[in-house]
Amino acid sequence: MNIKELSFEEVESFINSLGEPRFRAHQVIDWIFVKGVAAFDAMTNLPLRFRQRLTTAATLSVPEILRSSVSTDGMTIKYLLGFDDGETVETVFMHRPWGRTVCVSTQAGCRMGCGFCASAIGGLNRNLTAGEIYDQVLFVQKNTGTRVSHVVLMGTGEPFDNLENTIRFLKNITDPVGLGIGARHITVSTCGVIPGIYALAGLGLQVGLAVSLHAPNDDLRSRLLPVNRRYPLKALIPACRAFTDITGRRVTFEYTLVSGVNDGKDEAVELANLLQGLLCHVNLIPLNRVVERRFKAPTPEQVAAFESVLARNRIAVTVRREVGSRISAACGQLRKSYLKDKNTN
Ligand code: SAH
Repeated sequence: MNIKELSFEEVESFINSLGEPRFRAHQVIDWIFVKGVAAFDAMTNLPLRFRQRLTTAATLSVPEILRSSVSTDGMTIKYLLGFDDGETVETVFMHRPWGRTVCVSTQAGCRMGCGFCASAIGGLNRNLTAGEIYDQVLFVQKNTGTRVSHVVLMGTGEPFDNLENTIRFLKNITDPVGLGIGARHITVSTCGVIPGIYALAGLGLQVGLAVSLHAPNDDLRSRLLPVNRRYPLKALIPACRAFTDITGRRVTFEYTLVSGVNDGKDEAVELANLLQGLLCHVNLIPLNRVVERRFKAPTPEQVAAFESVLARNRIAVTVRREVGSRISAACGQLRKSYLKDKNTN
């Protein structure tokens, strides 16, 4: 029995099945899901016999840190974490004026195959469990000695390609019995796996949705994001509209600008038309160059021109600063370099 994979109600039933009262379950949850201890023996307010019972009846593990990289201003830390089976993921801590954000991975690798993304290169190794996603937040809290206030599911992997574990994670991380992170401070980012959008909307939590759009028409979008062939814009945009109707929250559209591919004035106008009337906001991301890919980043002038077309068309728009590349560890690079070193040694 791996306790970290249970919902909090399931932890209660499990502890109950060991003949212990409910308050013991809450103590165990506190040790595991708030304090993040690595062993039942460390749960010092539990009777010794009960701790021994737990040790034989359940397993408990924490990820180990394999590498890390700190930005020059110390405000961003990228970690490479390893799980029991040797699988690795990247997790990023960002200390921002509005809060302390963790960017978590939801899969080891990814099978979505997006054209410019480093995570697509090796394909999918496996889904992360709900506990492994949660562990990334706990790890960062312990490592930085701070309380995490925001979580974004924007690391490696497609959250809605691992829907069940993603939802289990969202329920546990927002539960006040655990870390109790405010749902409004959590954002799930998807490349457009539509069933996941409806599932998130129906969850009854105020979790935010970000959709990686990257193109204003199906032709271009299908070339950059193969997922678009399965879930084209005529279905994706209504799904986003349904999300805003059900939750009352605006959708964020991520749009990675790739020089000469999707960053022209025509695309900007087409994008503004596509999103007209939708409760949304566009976040422009200048491409982080991935060495294996031929795509190029836009110049600051190209970014500004694209931004101003959207703004003139009354689309709310912001430009993301390239935090990753400044610590020479853009998305996926830390994991890739680790795997390369491991293979040559
Ligand atoms: N699978 C999810 C979350 C992971 S990627 C999704 O697709 O949304 C997080 C964001 O970074 C996505 O918008 C993704 O398209 C973008 N991205 C991937 N590679 C990038 C690169 N090289 N430069 C800039 N943005 C990139």
